[in-house]
Formats: sequence, C-alpha cells, structure tokens
Amino acid sequence: MSLLRSLDPLPPGMVYKYFTTTWLRNTRLAEKKKIMDFGLKDKVALVAAASSGIGFACARELAREGAQVFLCSRGAQHASQAAEKIHKETGVDVAGIACDVTSDSAVQAFVNLAVERAGKIDICVTNAGGPPAKTFAETDLDTFRQAFELNALSAIRFAKLVLPGMLERKWGRIINITSVSVKQPIDGLLLSNTVRAGLTGWAKTVSNEVAAHGVTVNNVAPGYTLTERQDYLAEVRAKALGKSKQEIIDSWADQAPIRRMAQPEEIGAAVAFLASERASYITGVTLQVDGGWVKSLF
Ligand code: NAD
Repeated sequence: MSLLRSLDPLPPGMVYKYFTTTWLRNTRLAEKKKIMDFGLKDKVALVAAASSGIGFACARELAREGAQVFLCSRGAQHASQAAEKIHKETGVDVAGIACDVTSDSAVQAFVNLAVERAGKIDICVTNAGGPPAKTFAETDLDTFRQAFELNALSAIRFAKLVLPGMLERKWGRIINITSVSVKQPIDGLLLSNTVRAGLTGWAKTVSNEVAAHGVTVNNVAPGYTLTERQDYLAEVRAKALGKSKQEIIDSWADQAPIRRMAQPEEIGAAVAFLASERASYITGVTLQVDGGWVKSLF
C-alpha cells in the first residue's frame, strides 16, 4: 500500500516544489563536494627560487589557497616584484626577499626573517635554477660540487633550518622541486640525473624519520614546463639547429603522451595539494607532473 502511494502522481504544484527542493539540495551537495578545502589559510609558506618559473607558480598557488608566503630569489628587485604581483592578485601577505639558496648565511637570514615576521614556517618548497647540461667528459669535479650545492644541498640546508619548528608544532610540509630525470635519466643532463637522484634518496630517508611527527617530505618532479627559462632555451636551441622556436617547443611537447608542455601553474597546483591538509598521508613520494612522459609504472 505504501509503495503504491509513493508511485501515485503528485499534484502539479507539488511536483514543481519537490523537484525544485531536490535540485537545490543536490546542487548544494555537489557544490560542497567540489570544494576541496586545502586547509592552508592559517599556514606560512616559504618558497625558494621563486621570482619566476615554477617557483613563482608554486608561491602563487599557495597564496591563492590563502597561505602567507615568503619567497626568495638572488636579486631583491625581482623577488619583491614577484611578491607584489602575487599579493595584488590574491590579497594575502607575500614578502619577496633576496637570498641565494647556495649560501648558508643567506638562507639562515631568510628563514630567520620569516620566523620573526610570521612566528613559524609550516611549508617549505625548495627550488633552484637547473645545473648546466654536460656530458661526463665535459664535467670536472668542481662542476659536480657546484651542482650538488645548487640542486641538493640547497634543499637540505632549508630542511635543517625549518624542520625543528615543524617537529615541535607536529605539522609540516617539505616539498622539493626536482625533475622527471630522477625517474628516467635524460641523456646529456648528467648533473641533473646525478644530483637530484641523491636528493631523492635523502628526502625518502628523512621522510621516514619525521613521518610520525606530522611532517611530510615529498618531491614534485616536473616534466617539460613552459617557463621563461625554457622559452629562452628553446630560442637558443632553435638558432643552433637552424629551426624555429616553435619547432623546438613542439619537439619537447611531443615527447609526452599529453602532447603539450606543462604550464608552470600545473606544477604549482601539485605542490599546493601536497602542502595541504588533504595530503596528510602522502610522504616520501616523488610525484611526477609530466603529462605521462615517464615510461615506467612507478
Ligand atoms: P627558472 O630558471 O625559470 O627559474 C629559476 C628561479 O630560480 C628563478 O626565480 C631564479 O631567479 C631562481 N634562482 C636560480 N638560482 C638561484 C639561487 N642560487 N638562489 C636563489 N634563487 C635562484 O627555472 P624553472 O624552469 O622554473 O625550473 C625550476 C627548477 O625545476 C630548476 O631546477 C629546473 O632545472 C627544474 N626543472 C624544470 C623543468 C622545466 O621544463 N622548466 C623541468 C624539470 C625540472
């Protein structure tokens, strides 16, 4: 009987009301589901090497999620211009500081300044310019040392300074920008292949040491990403090979199943996710953001 009643047609006015309220409720539910709150509004983020390119995109994505950001690059002017740009767009506090990530004292001063102004550092994104492209025959030992300084020790240096506070507060995120070369070494990029693989081993080991204290350590490995630097490299390569810049860009894009280069903000979005509350059970991983470029399963 009750089943029959539920199948009875509703009077026209009630049909309208029933569908309107159901539609409204479902829409609100969908809206709620769509919003993935990253929980970054009261967080303080430090982003290294961020006046342009991937670093800048990471700083901007974190600011878009409401985090207070301290970014650095070697030159004060470029750093403050980048900070101003992000502040104008997002309205959050962004400071741009001059700091060379290969200098112990400069990084110490940068970290000190952030702690003095914000009271803590919750998120640390390590980044630097890439090492030169060389073969083994062209690479002397000093060049190896410089690459280790720039692309491994720079990240380790930051971690040394920010980890104690994170462990004390039982919350922290360290995210290193590396490269797909750690999963699939790239011919000619000997230094990147060597040094970043070492950093990856370091990150995994440290992630295990701090995981039980609410701190995660992960790497984001970009594939070919259309930054200003990559655009410039395409121009240089085009001239050397007698091709157009677009041909070079297309040749990079075609290496990935997705058939285009990444936009820097696509790398920044992955970093913002790993920095978020929602990534609390992800640690010790290297997340490639490469449009499918890496051919292996893992
Ligand atoms: P980029 O050259 O566009 O930006 C590098 C940023 O680092 C700039 O803001 C620069 O001022 C800053 N910087 C460089 N050396 C520094 C130092 N010693 N101290 C402080 N700041 C410094 O580079 P990008 O394309 O954004 O790449 C960022 C990193 O990601 C690099 O290590 C690069 O090798 C790596 N990567 C890039 C790609 C790509 O396709 N763009 C792919 C894989 C990996």
